[in-house]
Amino acid sequence: MPTIGVLALQGDVREHVRMLQEAGASAAAVRRPAELDAVDGLVIPGGESTTMWKLAETFDMLQPLRMRIKEGMPAYGSCAGMIMLADRIEDGAAGQQTIGGIDMVVRRNAFGRQVDSFESDLDFAGDRVHAVFIRAPWVESVGGDVEVLGRCEPGDRIVAVRQGPLLATSFHPELTGDTRVHRYFVDMLREL
Ligand code: GLN
Repeated sequence: MPTIGVLALQGDVREHVRMLQEAGASAAAVRRPAELDAVDGLVIPGGESTTMWKLAETFDMLQPLRMRIKEGMPAYGSCAGMIMLADRIEDGAAGQQTIGGIDMVVRRNAFGRQVDSFESDLDFAGDRVHAVFIRAPWVESVGGDVEVLGRCEPGDRIVAVRQGPLLATSFHPELTGDTRVHRYFVDMLREL
């Protein structure tokens, strides 16, 4: 059984831990480099990417995270976690940095004020899922190695992607009780 960490600097950590356990993985909160060393994969939760970035620097986690991603550790980021996995961001805070890994441009708070938070049914990797968006980013553009797994109205925007061992969604499957996205990630770990 793979052990999957949930980055626990900030955000909805407990919900991801529960979903990973329901999806058949063993889950552990990760705050320190030694805890990161001990996991087979990592979930980066929703929350606030600016705060997450600053805390990652404060806790000396940014470089270790970049290193493990570079070495091929599987990771899944939802919402703020998607922003953290993007190589480039638009509308970031001044100086905002990411962990990176997925060759994409992600626009923060992209859906705008009128649809600040909304729910929508969409196709994720061939499964119909109910998706919850909360001040969500969308993917503005992707490089050639990135597979688009899901799109959403308004605008047919890219909201789910995969590049090798890295998965990201603009939405929050951890808030729906539907474990399929987490199962998809656990299956990815088993295949790799
Ligand atoms: N808007 C947040 C950010 O920029 C993301 C929101 C979320 O994770 N629900 O980090």
